[in-house]
Amino acid sequence: MHEMSIAQSLIDILQEEMTRHNATVLKTVRLRIGELSAIVPDSLSFCFEIAIKDTNMEGARLNMDVIPLRGACRDCQNEFDIKDYAFECPQCQGTNIDTISGQDLSIVEMEVE
Ligand SMILES: [Zn+2]
Repeated sequence: MHEMSIAQSLIDILQEEMTRHNATVLKTVRLRIGELSAIVPDSLSFCFEIAIKDTNMEGARLNMDVIPLRGACRDCQNEFDIKDYAFECPQCQGTNIDTISGQDLSIVEMEVE
């Protein structure tokens, strides 16, 4: 399951942050999940729960915001939401599209004690 390895690397990052802040308890984590990252929030949350069992993060809550996919056209600089993975500019029908958001997973904030 691809979410399990994501949960694991997420925990590594959180662990590092907690050590840096001398925190002992992790309460909540807020994540941004890009629409294109192919992560299923429910499944990630399930894996995260299993992975933090019997660690100092046990009981931590995962909050997730799904970030829609946005693109920018290289030909006319138009920015737009990409729907149904249609990488085509709605303004000039160009196909030189850069994705500007919606691809990654990032930690927005974490609440520790
Ligand atoms: Zn365009």
